[in-house]
Amino acid sequence: MTGEDARAQIERVAHSIHRRGLTHGRTGNLAIRDGEQILVTPTGVNLGEIEADALSVLDADGRHLGGPKPTKEAFLHVAMLRVRPELNAVVHTHSLYSAALSCLDGLDPEHPLPPLTAYYGMRVGELRVLPYFAPGDPAATAAVEDAARAGHALLLRNHGPVVAGVDLDSALDALEELEHTAQIYFITQGHPTSPLTAERLAALAAPTAERTPAA
Ligand SMILES: [Zn+2]
Repeated sequence: MTGEDARAQIERVAHSIHRRGLTHGRTGNLAIRDGEQILVTPTGVNLGEIEADALSVLDADGRHLGGPKPTKEAFLHVAMLRVRPELNAVVHTHSLYSAALSCLDGLDPEHPLPPLTAYYGMRVGELRVLPYFAPGDPAATAAVEDAARAGHALLLRNHGPVVAGVDLDSALDALEELEHTAQIYFITQGHPTSPLTAERLAALAAPTAERTPAA
């Protein structure tokens, strides 16, 4: 969005996530790479109440430089942005169906969802499931980095999705596509489905962390 700075983007997208019920309570956090620094949402704040002038400022290694105390999940964003220098924003939520998916027993860590829709194939692509870590446990860093090398979306076990994009709108687009596909997956349980074949997936535009045109 022309003329909108990184702080204003975080406020706009955070409010949008909250307004549309994509996360609940004081869960969920966002980050944007801003030059040499990373802006991240603070700890303990409802995304619906995020203010552009009250964001935490980190350096590229996650050290707190200014502003309020950052979310304890900031290291997730820092790790993704470190591994994917071409991407500039990360969204993490506890969105209902994605979080439900992350709780299933026997989940294939490399293919937790069948490619039920073309937009899932284009906007999400590779999705890795991490082993369980307690929220805020920095021991998850190496696993986040491995997953980020495979794709721009990952699922924290018994927790929720973390999705990166070239900008915040692209990251949110992909996160919503993941949430939508997880919802389709659950409501079609017990019904035969026909996921896209490898051939059909290959015929689509390659998965991208950029915004794909709407239908
Ligand atoms: Zn979380």
